[in-house]
Amino acid sequence: PNAVPDFAVAVVGAGPAGFYAAAALLAPPEPRVRVDMYERLPTPWGLVRAGVAPDHPKIKSISAQFARTATHERFRWFGNVEVGTTVSREELLARYDAVVYCVGSPADRDLHIPGADRPGSVGARDFVGWYNGHPDFRALTFDLQVSRAVIVGHGNVALDVARILSTPPDRLAATDIADHALVALRASRIRDVLVIGRRGPAQASFTTPELRELGELTGADVIVDPAQLGPPDADADLPHVPRHNLEVLRRYAAAEPAGTGRRITLRFLTSPIEIRGRDRVESVVLGRNRLLDPGDGAATAIDTGEREELAAGLVLRAVGYRGVPIPGVPFDDRAGLVPNVEGRVLGGDREYVAGWIKRGPSGIIGTNKKCATDTVHTLLADLASTPGASTRPAAADPGAIEAWLRRRQPDLVDLDGWTAIDTAELRAGAPLGRPRVKVCTWRELLATART
Ligand code: FAD
Repeated sequence: PNAVPDFAVAVVGAGPAGFYAAAALLAPPEPRVRVDMYERLPTPWGLVRAGVAPDHPKIKSISAQFARTATHERFRWFGNVEVGTTVSREELLARYDAVVYCVGSPADRDLHIPGADRPGSVGARDFVGWYNGHPDFRALTFDLQVSRAVIVGHGNVALDVARILSTPPDRLAATDIADHALVALRASRIRDVLVIGRRGPAQASFTTPELRELGELTGADVIVDPAQLGPPDADADLPHVPRHNLEVLRRYAAAEPAGTGRRITLRFLTSPIEIRGRDRVESVVLGRNRLLDPGDGAATAIDTGEREELAAGLVLRAVGYRGVPIPGVPFDDRAGLVPNVEGRVLGGDREYVAGWIKRGPSGIIGTNKKCATDTVHTLLADLASTPGASTRPAAADPGAIEAWLRRRQPDLVDLDGWTAIDTAELRAGAPLGRPRVKVCTWRELLATART
């Protein structure tokens, strides 16, 4: 079992795509591949830790499966190493037979409207990172002393954010939500959350369980104007997901408000036109749309010119994410991802991609499994056509790689370091009945990793 592996592959990014790629690389009996995973954070699991909402503990439990992959004898994990900064792409290519980038889509798509950069207008990435304890967003503050928030976007991230803003804080206190966020949410005066999307209910990209949970998990009144849903007899012709979404929306539309004091309103065919305010967000100008050529699945929203100005103190845009380039790796700036064919980077050198950086930011965690496995099949087929075994240092002398990395990053966080963080968080959570209490600053994460 200690024989020199045939090849060594670097996987960049410790999210779902990275772990599914690692599992697929380690699975076949031949060739024997060694996997070194590089992650810029001191913690693994990508958006499972930093994106998935804290009130979704079942979904987060997928990390147990990734943790099993991490125990494989031919797997190593190197946290607090950013590829492109701490080490370069060229340095990895000199040491490994292949490199798989699984770096996700960490940037927010922007709203190109006047006032979008006013204080109080924020991206979902920042807000989500903040409540999930991502150390890059620890220092942010959000003014929640306002009565209405407008969320732009009709996807699951928009619903996550609406839920977190509308759930009684005592319920959130039982989750692994970051402590600083819990303190701020306890003091929040937001009672009215409006979630707008430019197209109709049949085009929204929520999944049905998320839509259903909106009322169930928050206890808030979910308000939907029945007139926006159209006649029910048209629903039967819709594909599975929108048909079920409409079922849930019609239930919301028919429900009597329970008068809980918290409201989430879902509004369709509505776009933000301008964000107004003197020093900060005070109102949003909304435009009304109509659908062009509805029914073909690709209906587009057309501005009718109708306007309405609504007072709001917080505008959160959840209109999608995009990738950011790694120096030297080909990048399609328009699409916000790495151009590839079946996972092989176009114009790359033994380089591959999987997950959001390959397909763009859509799909659930499980979608990344097939995506990463497909990429690994491409990669293994390419390796099989390489004559002989590896001559790369990572395959022949893994100790030399680690020594090089420790010189480059004295604060390298290996699996023992992550285990120390994990243990400390779980221990802090246990007496409070919480899954964990997250360590949220870079300084504290690195100090805990050293214990
Ligand atoms: P990521 O999970 O983003 O992982 C990328 C990793 O690469 C990160 O750890 C990052 O730090 C690291 N990295 C980036 N750049 C570098 C670099 N240069 N060097 C080293 N490391 C780097 N799916 C569900 O099924 N259920 C949900 O409830 C759900 N909720 C979600 C909520 C939010 C707010 C978001 C944004 C997504 C959610 N998803 C959910 C989708 C799911 O999280 C994604 O499908 C999945 O995480 C994508 O996996 P990935 O590995 O491509 O990217």
